[in-house]
This record gives sequence, structure tokens and C-alpha cells, in this order.
Amino acid sequence: MSQPLTDLIATVRAESDAPDAVGIEGRPTANARTIPIRPVLPLSADENEVARILQICNACRYCEGFCAVFPAMTRRLEFGRADTHYLANLCHNCGACLHACQYAPPHEFAVNVPQAMARVRVKTYHDYAWPAPLGKLYERAGLTVAVALAVGLALFLVLAMAMAGPLLHAPLAGNFYAIFPHNFLAGVFGAVFLFVVFALGMGVRRFWREVTPASEPQAPRGPTIAEVRAPAAAEAAHAALRLKYLGGGHGEGCNEADDAFTLWRRRFHHFTFYGFMLCFAATSVATLYHYLLGWHAPYPLTSTPVVLGTLGGIGLLIGPTGLLWLNLRRDPQHGDAKQRPMDRGFIALLLLTSATGLALLAWRDTAAMGLLLAVHLGVVMALFLTLPYGKFAHGIFRSAALLKFAIEKRLPNRLQLGSD
Ligand code: SF4
Ligand code: SF4
Repeated sequence: MSQPLTDLIATVRAESDAPDAVGIEGRPTANARTIPIRPVLPLSADENEVARILQICNACRYCEGFCAVFPAMTRRLEFGRADTHYLANLCHNCGACLHACQYAPPHEFAVNVPQAMARVRVKTYHDYAWPAPLGKLYERAGLTVAVALAVGLALFLVLAMAMAGPLLHAPLAGNFYAIFPHNFLAGVFGAVFLFVVFALGMGVRRFWREVTPASEPQAPRGPTIAEVRAPAAAEAAHAALRLKYLGGGHGEGCNEADDAFTLWRRRFHHFTFYGFMLCFAATSVATLYHYLLGWHAPYPLTSTPVVLGTLGGIGLLIGPTGLLWLNLRRDPQHGDAKQRPMDRGFIALLLLTSATGLALLAWRDTAAMGLLLAVHLGVVMALFLTLPYGKFAHGIFRSAALLKFAIEKRLPNRLQLGSD
């Protein structure tokens, strides 16, 4: 009986003059190292569909200049599970290749790259989630957001009443800590923030290990991964921060409702992302004020934390509103209808976070401050808790895929075909 595939051990010869020699041998030689071969898992129906489509695209290559997916595709002749996961996360769902494709439905080849990629992409969030059982939350992402919101609101409304009495009170001059002590807020949100960072980090680590196996053979000549890592990281960061691949390859933008190009998806993403980062900066500056300088909130309207928070809140109003508008108009062929609750739930949480935050700022000197503060904190808690199990994951996984692409393109093509 043949040995199970999981037990096979590949011996990779480490001689520097033959670094591409890979073989399966019974006994390792003195100057060889052993690397376990991972099982070749069967593809799911959605992964199979991506593989089928990419075989067609690899013969056609019309869309080569549109985004990073097609150059990455041309470095492969066949598409295994890890390849489909990597390429699905490299796809920005801009829609350009669907509108340009001569084989798109109703053609019998039924090539719909963005839709096939979207279905595999969400499965990767599910499969690599940490802890693994919570990956199931992606299957009910809309419900997850609704439950998290209800729990967050109930928790902070009850806590506000337990700690400070009635939700409507005599004005407190914007002193939030008269409702919730500073150390309580710092402890609760600090712990949740650390969990979010850890969970997302573990998830993307699993993804990276799947798409970049340690045993990946190197081409015989050219730079090593270690040599290209720094410039690749800079390029990936640049592509992620500028959302380069929402430009459609020609700089005119994505397709949304039809064949027309628009840059609004990129712009609304920028409002959202940089709004989020400004809010994060506001919190960080306020933390430094509190612990390093001993300056305690409430801060004046013209102070750095309040200005940063206000600008961030405005960005988080404009961005998600625009993304929701685009999402409602988007050609249904671009994506997977089952993922709409996840997309719209995340957008709704971002909108609620900014709207309640700005309302709290506007009425912080009134009797409604306690109520507004409890509502805002409940929404923020729901947003934080769902970050590792909702749409937010796409930014993390896509950044990792961009890094892999930037590394891979600097290495010699292992196919060594033609001019390669
Ligand atoms: S999406 Fe269509 S046009 Fe573009 S490379 Fe694939 S098969 Fe060719
Ligand atoms: S939808 Fe856009 S980003 Fe995705 S593969 Fe097609 S052209 Fe590339």
C-alpha cells in the first residue's frame, strides 16, 4: 500500500550549486535537509471555478495590464488551493476584467473573474480566522454585526446607569470620566484592541504560511527572498496606501454599475481608511497627553486630539456613505450577493461610529452626554469585536497578498519559459 501523502518527506538538496534540485528520497544525505510535503487538498467548487477561469485567462492574457492578479497568474501553469487563495486576495474586485472580457457570461466559457475571486476570498477569511471556530461568524456576518451592536449598546447603557445613575443628568462640562472612569475605559478597550490585533495577526500568519510555504523551491539564479523583502515591503505599502489597483490599470478607476470607469470607489476608500487612521491618531495623542503629560480630558475643540478626531469622524462619514451608495448601485455580477450583509454591516458600523462620535462632540456639554457616550462606546465596542470576523479583514489579507506579489515579481520566474 502506498504511503499516505501527508507522511511523505521530501529531501531538498542544499548544495549551493544545485539549489533547484528537489527529490523524494528514503534517506537524507549528509548535506541535505528534510522538509515535509504538505497534503494536496482537493479544491472546493469555488476554488475549482477560480482555477478553471484562470486557465482560460492564462491562455488569453488580454487583461494582463489591469492589475496584479494577471502578472501573478502568468507565473503559474496550474492553480492549486494556495494559488487560488493568494490570487483571490490580490484581486481588488474592481470589475475591469469582467467588463473587458469577451468570454464573460452569456458566453459559454462564463468567465467572471471578480465574482469567482470574491467567493474564494471570503472563504479564506473563514478558513484562516483565529480562533478557528469563530471563522463561522463569516457565514452569518450580518447577524454577527447586529448581535455585536445589540450587545455593545446594552452593555454600555447598563454600565452607564450602574456607574453614574440616570442617562440624562446635569451638564458635566464634557467630562466623560464622570460617567466611566478613565482606567475602566482604558482597560476594557485596551484588552479588546490587543485581542483584535492578535486575532488578525494569527489569521494573516496562517494565510501567509499557506500561500508562501517554507519549502517553496527557489530558482537557480537571482536574488533570494531575504534580499528583496525590504523593497517589496515598500512597494506593497505604497500600493495598499494608494489603492493602486482600484485604478483599473489605466488610472481611470473601477467599473461600478456599468462599463463606465470611476475613481469614486478609490476616493471613498481613502476617506474611510484615512478617517479611521485619524481617529486612531486622536486616541493615541489623547493617551500620550493623559499618561505622559498628565493633561486629562475634556480637551478644547482646538486641541490636537479633538481636531484629529473631528477630521477623522468627517472622513468616516463621507467614506462609508459613498461606499454604501456605490455598493447599492454595483453590477451584481461583480460580487457574491451572499456577502452583501457583511459588506453593508461593516459600512453601517463605521457610519454609526462616526455619527455617534460627532454627536457626542456636539452635545458633550449638555445633559445628554451620558446617553450619547454610552451609545458611542457601545457602537465602537461592536466595531472592534467584529473587526477580525468581518469585512475589515479584507484590508489585512489584501496587504499580505500585495506583499507576496511584490516579493514574487522580484524573484526569477521559476517557469523559465521563453524569454524568462
Ligand atoms: S478576463 Fe477574459 S479577457 Fe481577461 S484575460 Fe481572462 S479570459 Fe481574457
Ligand atoms: S476584478 Fe479588477 S482587480 Fe480583480 S482580477 Fe479583475 S481586473 Fe484584477
